[in-house]
Amino acid sequence: MKTIDDLGDLRGRRVLVRSDLNVPLDGTKITDDGRVRASVPTIRRLADAGAKVLVMAHLGRPKGTPDPGLSLKPVAERLAELLGSPVLFANDTVDEEAQHIASALREGEVAVLENVRFNPAETSKDDAERGAFADQLAALADVFVSDGFGVVHRKQASVYDIADRLPAAVGGLVQAEIEVLERLTSSPERPYVVVLGGSKVSDKLGVIDSLIETADSLLIGGGMVFTFLAAQGHEVGSSLLEEDQLDVVRGYIEQAAQKGVDLVLPTDIVVAPEFAADSPPTTVAADAMPADQMGLDIGPDSAARFADVIRSAHTVFWNGPMGVFEMDAFAAGTKAVAQALTELSAREDGGLSVVGGGDSAAAVRQLGFADDQLGHISTGGGASLEYLEGKTLPGLAILEDA
Ligand code: ADP
Ligand code: MG
Repeated sequence: MKTIDDLGDLRGRRVLVRSDLNVPLDGTKITDDGRVRASVPTIRRLADAGAKVLVMAHLGRPKGTPDPGLSLKPVAERLAELLGSPVLFANDTVDEEAQHIASALREGEVAVLENVRFNPAETSKDDAERGAFADQLAALADVFVSDGFGVVHRKQASVYDIADRLPAAVGGLVQAEIEVLERLTSSPERPYVVVLGGSKVSDKLGVIDSLIETADSLLIGGGMVFTFLAAQGHEVGSSLLEEDQLDVVRGYIEQAAQKGVDLVLPTDIVVAPEFAADSPPTTVAADAMPADQMGLDIGPDSAARFADVIRSAHTVFWNGPMGVFEMDAFAAGTKAVAQALTELSAREDGGLSVVGGGDSAAAVRQLGFADDQLGHISTGGGASLEYLEGKTLPGLAILEDA
């Protein structure tokens, strides 16, 4: 795969960079700027090399039409603050204004194009439609740099099709992410522990299949727990549940036992009558959940056990909060896991901790931990899971061929 070094002298050349600037917003206020900060080094490096830098990115899921609430403008402003230099903003991706900005850029200048997903072609399943949009994007620049790790698993115009239309290279962020993930897939230092949680249960169950082959212990928390408990025949009340995955999960439980993988499920659960911050929490045994309540966090015994397993590991990959960490009453499990990870990272014999997933990274920061207390915070949850599953990531595959 070509890197920025392989692109030669970039002075005066227009470089189109796909970054991942998909940050959580509260109105126009960015509540976690981690992805913007992670995008800065590549953008700065290109600007310092004298390139004319055009950044393209998406924000949220705007359904293929302009949505003022999902404008990248506040993100471009934050980027300017972090870069310490002005950033131009194009109110569209490929219209005349964007073309004008692209052609008027000076060496070392940076411009951000509006949310690429305002154009329905960006995420179209139709190759020709995506291709036509990619042609328009390609016309804005001389070179493409793929640096949005959070989207490399997407076959989208600004990630995939564009790489066929310009000389292309991988950016420093994607390179760094892959280097870390490679350490997890090829001979991780053992014990290798994987912690899974969160709410995108159906998306995440698939990864367990391949993790059973590589991990020594698998700790299950978050919304995923209840499909496991239900598969074992327990009551789960009104908790998140994937009914149609019960057989799959039973298969995993069996497979883990066969392979000698330590599958650790919580033994206690924090439940409440409603999904609400002020709903009164109670801790119950995992096999005795009341039918009229829902599980919103792993209980304290489970949290202590998870923390022990993490502390005695050498390599840990964590994706998905253990509970509804956004509400104080249900944040303790996630906090215990994060705390144990910081202890692993601080150890002198150098344990490796990797956190993947937008909400997991946000949880770590919201609960008061600093990025450098953890080994590596990945900017891509879905992408890192697909990588660990051994799937082909279209945005990387297309660069291999370039
Ligand atoms: P990530 O972005 O890290 O991959 P997900 O998007 O899968 O994680 O899930 C994050 C969300 O999961 C959080 O908003 C959290 O509140 C929610 N969550 C965790 N545990 C539960 C649970 N028991 N019930 C409902 N939601 C949960
Ligand atoms: Mg998420």
